[in-house]
Amino acid sequence: MLQQTRVAVVAPAYRSFLRAFPHLRALARASEDEVLSRWSGLGYYARARALQRAARLIDAKGARAFPTSLAAARDLPGVGPYTAAAVLSIAHGLPHAAVDANVSRVLSRLACLQPRTRGRALQTLAERLLDRRRPGDWNQALMELGETTCTARKPACDDCPVRRFCAAFRRGQVSRYPRRRARRAIEQIELRMTLAFDRRGRLLLERGSFPYLPHLWLPPIEVISRRARAMQYPLDRRDTFCHGILHRSFRVGLLRRQVTARELRGEARGRNATERRLFGPTQLASIGRSALLTKALRRAGVPPPAPATG
Ligand code: SF4
Repeated sequence: MLQQTRVAVVAPAYRSFLRAFPHLRALARASEDEVLSRWSGLGYYARARALQRAARLIDAKGARAFPTSLAAARDLPGVGPYTAAAVLSIAHGLPHAAVDANVSRVLSRLACLQPRTRGRALQTLAERLLDRRRPGDWNQALMELGETTCTARKPACDDCPVRRFCAAFRRGQVSRYPRRRARRAIEQIELRMTLAFDRRGRLLLERGSFPYLPHLWLPPIEVISRRARAMQYPLDRRDTFCHGILHRSFRVGLLRRQVTARELRGEARGRNATERRLFGPTQLASIGRSALLTKALRRAGVPPPAPATG
């Protein structure tokens, strides 16, 4: 949950998640909608699906917990070298060095190494420096050092506890390491989202047609245009809002109307959703809701569904 998402956002969702899925088997045997519902608001929903697929694989083998070998951990969906090393060192006390972006920056400066040009050099250095008696604490200390002191823009070298070991500081070259990568251009995409309600006030949602969130239930969405530069529309209109996903910025125009019979039958032109259904307030509360859907409902004056509770 903490990959790409702030602690303050994660904390309540984490507690609710653990109440709903107190052990691996509960997570493995839940429906995907249940898991996505508990993930609502955290973004990057592929992580939730990977987590459940991993739980299912472990459960299918009759095991009850995350593996303790690096190779077995790496075989699980969504588990890369960093996650495997972080979980094994922090949860099981095993001697694996976890190199995330913060650690990579600290090591790059300590040894004057550029992360990309020197291949595995940073990982090798991380493993060489690792405190094998307390690998979890060591990894977390390095992450924290990068997060709080050896920051990307303004490293606080005067307060740094490892300053006397730091080659970049000694040479006066801190700003050279690590070399900044060119920022990826933000793609601007204009969307039209249709909030179609039936007579009972139920909302039509579909899944599989919006390629940026293919596994979540969303109102029908059409891509109107894509541009490399920001769009010049005023943003204070009640029926428009902006939303960002990774390096994409969406400007969403809302259309609110009665659902048509053709839409209900899935015959509307250009729709290629894999599933389509009407949702009342209770059902809305039991599915994974992206921030995109939450914002649209708020804009349209639809009361937000009650958050999932433990
Ligand atoms: S001395 Fe400065 S550059 Fe070196 S590790 Fe500490 S904060 Fe980072």
